[in-house]
Amino acid sequence: MEKTLIILKPDAVAKGLENDIVQKYEKAGLRMIRREELVATAATLKQHYSAHVQKGFYPSLEKFMSSGKIVAIIFEGNNAVATARKVTGSTDPMKAEKGTIRNEFGDMKLADDDRIMKNLVHASATKEEAEKEIKLWFG
Ligand code: GDP
Ligand code: MG
Repeated sequence: MEKTLIILKPDAVAKGLENDIVQKYEKAGLRMIRREELVATAATLKQHYSAHVQKGFYPSLEKFMSSGKIVAIIFEGNNAVATARKVTGSTDPMKAEKGTIRNEFGDMKLADDDRIMKNLVHASATKEEAEKEIKLWFG
């Protein structure tokens, strides 16, 4: 059975959206098999976001992702990676499709040059990414 990694980002945890978000994935046929609450370190985030570490937004992303408690979850199911991405919605909550998590619960905070995209969840984009991320967050 395929597995994927979801992270409830600090905004989702702070808003108390964990149950609502988990239900969205469960209604799409996915099953939660592992769950871990933690505060992410800069070192782990640099590995998790290795594709983005050189980008201009990375410092604010790292600051945001380590600003509070997160919840890492492994979901399992048929086409778990693609299914979870569909339920999650586009990266920018303003552009996320209706009914997706990022559309229903997301918002956008713009503060001068400290632009933070508060899009509630991370979802692995490919099977390879899911395998790498599950190893990183769950060992
Ligand atoms: P995702 O797979 O949909 O989460 O999107 P990406 O892998 O492209 O980006 C990873 C994360 O970096 C996103 O979820 C956002 O939190 C953040 N991010 C991506 N692009 C931007 C951007 O243009 N500006 C800002 N501020 N954050 C971004
Ligand atoms: Mg991504």
